[in-house]
Amino acid sequence: MALKIMILGANGFIGSALTGAILRERDWEVYGIDLSDNKLGDLPKDNRFHFVEGDITINKEWVEYHVKKCDVVVPLVAIANPAQYVTHPLRVFELDFEANVEVVRHCVKYGKRLIFPSTSELYGMSPDPVLDEETSPLVYGPINKQRWIYAASKQLLDRVIYAYGVRDSLDYTLFRPFNFIGPNLDNIEEPKEGSSRVFTQFLSNVLYRRPIKLVDGGNQKRSFTYIDDAIECLLTILENKDGRATRRIFNIGNPDNCVSIRDLAERTIRIAQEFPALRDAAKGTEIIEVSAGEYYGKYYQDIQVRVPAIEAAKRDLGWRPRTDMDTAIRRTIDFYVQLGSFNSLNASASGL
Ligand code: UDP
Repeated sequence: MALKIMILGANGFIGSALTGAILRERDWEVYGIDLSDNKLGDLPKDNRFHFVEGDITINKEWVEYHVKKCDVVVPLVAIANPAQYVTHPLRVFELDFEANVEVVRHCVKYGKRLIFPSTSELYGMSPDPVLDEETSPLVYGPINKQRWIYAASKQLLDRVIYAYGVRDSLDYTLFRPFNFIGPNLDNIEEPKEGSSRVFTQFLSNVLYRRPIKLVDGGNQKRSFTYIDDAIECLLTILENKDGRATRRIFNIGNPDNCVSIRDLAERTIRIAQEFPALRDAAKGTEIIEVSAGEYYGKYYQDIQVRVPAIEAAKRDLGWRPRTDMDTAIRRTIDFYVQLGSFNSLNASASGL
């Protein structure tokens, strides 16, 4: 019997990429819900994809009914953008924690397998140079630094899920994304600062001929992971051959792509120049420095370096990331060029 997978947030960055990969590479059925369908392209035409437009906080009966009906539940509805942790902390808690804990409980009630997105943010300002799923301490700043409401909400969910595993044998896998990047991460056509995560923000700045802003000098580092590599890992987790991913936590990240934010800015500008549609805009893009206070306000606190240990995923899932930094940047830009985003926007951005 083909697996029935339920994806909440099927139109999101991870959800849309995962749905596409399942339909292309597996014979499984997907039941998806999201607020809109703009990232799904032709996928809803596939008769193995059953998609409805809706809000999981309102369409609660649809959600419970489909948890009952499916084999595996992948709840990907969440706010995962640091700019919003500081501007809308309660919305982060209500959606990321409160709405999701209901889904977790449905999985317990109906005995369904749960693949849940934890986060690399969970490690916070951990002193470990390489972050390990089982041993690294999770370190956050004071309450007045509202950024940590996301990490704290997610940490509590990880603990709740873990406890259901111990008490009720809930079959779950927690996965921790490390700065996934790729097509459809955020909206590059949204020029407002802070509406996107860093890579989309930089692409958008190039496009709109605005300076790239390095928060506090841009020496902080992240390990960027190309979405296709991440999806390959998620498919293996979904497959769960011999229960190898059951009641486990996996970092999904690419330690070889650990670069500073300044380096990311420079690479983005350099690689954008390879594309005729972007050459002029990229050549003229300035890099400036701003303070974290100016950019995010007083509730923000940064993480200086974030490198995943991926031995667990390598050893137990037989997975390894393959896409290097420049290829990840190039493929993402190429996606938008193919889509024609830059042509029309270039014209409007330069007032043509
Ligand atoms: N950042 C930056 N300029 C921007 C946007 C973000 O320098 O225009 C920095 C931000 O302060 C952080 C890093 O880039 O140190 C990554 O930010 P992102 O929003 O992608 O998420 P995070 O990795 O912190 O979860």
